[in-house]
Amino acid sequence: MIIVMKTGSSKEQVRNVVERVEELGLHAHLSEGEERTIVGVVGAPLPPDLDERFAALDGVDNVVRITKKFKLAGWDFHPQKTIIDLGDGVTIGGEEISIIAGPCSVESEEQTISTAKWVKAQGATILRGGAYKPRTSPYEFRGLGVKGLEILAQARKETGLKLITEVMTPADVEVVGEYTDIFQIGARNAQNYLLLEEVGKAGKPVMLKRGLSMLMEEWLLAAEYVMAQGNPNVILCERGIRTFETWTRNTLDISTVSVIQSLSHLPVFIDPSHAVGKRAYVASASLAAVAAGADGLMIEVHPDPDRAMSDAAQQLNFQEFADLMPRIGAVAEAVGRVAPSGTTASAA
Ligand code: PEP
Ligand code: MN
Repeated sequence: MIIVMKTGSSKEQVRNVVERVEELGLHAHLSEGEERTIVGVVGAPLPPDLDERFAALDGVDNVVRITKKFKLAGWDFHPQKTIIDLGDGVTIGGEEISIIAGPCSVESEEQTISTAKWVKAQGATILRGGAYKPRTSPYEFRGLGVKGLEILAQARKETGLKLITEVMTPADVEVVGEYTDIFQIGARNAQNYLLLEEVGKAGKPVMLKRGLSMLMEEWLLAAEYVMAQGNPNVILCERGIRTFETWTRNTLDISTVSVIQSLSHLPVFIDPSHAVGKRAYVASASLAAVAAGADGLMIEVHPDPDRAMSDAAQQLNFQEFADLMPRIGAVAEAVGRVAPSGTTASAA
């Protein structure tokens, strides 16, 4: 249910509504727009006469029942697009296309920091790199753990890039949260509801990958798990889904961009690297994603992809990434967005 306050309603009237919601054992989520405030009510059971009771309170314009399952992620609760402010002028979900780039796995200080410097020089604002790796086989490289987090923090110190790294288990949320700026929830954990709740409580932005065979509705409901813990800063990232096709690693579902944007105010990213799985196809998938309206991309970049300890086939080398960035900038401008800084003549 949402309670729409009148234009110009006072803080006191809003507080009164929130208190009444909480007295009923329900949760109130405030969305303060420029024009008016909306109080979202979640929890169960909603008493049947709730609509009339709240409609009668001072400052309330109207009360609307929401039948969609994803309440916090949907537009009804939050009519403005979510823009996530990571500090130091780095935002996600605004006009500018955000580029997250970096290696699949943090392998060494030299590999990570050289990549960080390179991707920053090309216009990326956020460094990716896995310290805890979900691998299909238990015998593959599974990440450097805390040592990897320390290397990422060093890279941030040297470049000013923000960090995103994966957390795989509720037990690691605390330690990963000490280092990262954004928690990454991987495709394999996209429906690990206890992990989603734990990152929801941790208070930092969360990027939620789409699961390998996850419906868009299930994806939004997974975001809802994070948001229901009081964390509004969720980014949805399409990374390809499992289909019958084997030539590409996954099948990039480009339709997610416009479908999710029609249903939700949350920023939508595309990870072209895991979607296609082969570096030759990463550039066209990136350009298509920006053309389709994605808010950003997450691209794997490695100084020497052939020697990478994970995902060797799909990581771009430095030159490939440098060649791609101005093309991303040009497509961004062609669709009315702001190019990642420094990627086009008009952005400079
Ligand atoms: C990753 O980004 O490193 C990763 C493992 O991706 P996904 O969870 O999408 O497979
Ligand atoms: Mn990878």
